[in-house]
Amino acid sequence: MNWLHTILFPPRCPGCGRSVSSHGTWCSLCFQSVWHPRLVNGSRRNHLDGCYALTDYRGHIRRILQQIKYERKFQYEAACLYLLSRFPWMDEIRTDIAVPVPLSLTRLRKRGYNQSEFILVLVQILWCGHP
Ligand SMILES: [Zn+2]
Repeated sequence: MNWLHTILFPPRCPGCGRSVSSHGTWCSLCFQSVWHPRLVNGSRRNHLDGCYALTDYRGHIRRILQQIKYERKFQYEAACLYLLSRFPWMDEIRTDIAVPVPLSLTRLRKRGYNQSEFILVLVQILWCGHP
């Protein structure tokens, strides 16, 4: 049935919409424009060993995250997994606990979900194979 899904919904770059090889894959131009992995803060303030960023909150990423956050466009799951799976410091991250950024109860009731829980589930899929 995967072939039927691919015929009905051909894979497109989540950034520009160009045809790509598989769902979630970014075309090379869009990938180059969004991919900016770096250690943002390596200080031990606030009990953090480090804070990493894979991309900047602008352009295609900003649009996608806002659509996940405000329009429930969870079809960007594969595009997010594509980026998260390329996290370059996976061997350096040692943690037993990962928590989403909390959302106020008012916002949670209004929106119906916490978008950071969505991202955390993707990370759990990558790390553990299941949410
Ligand atoms: Zn593209």
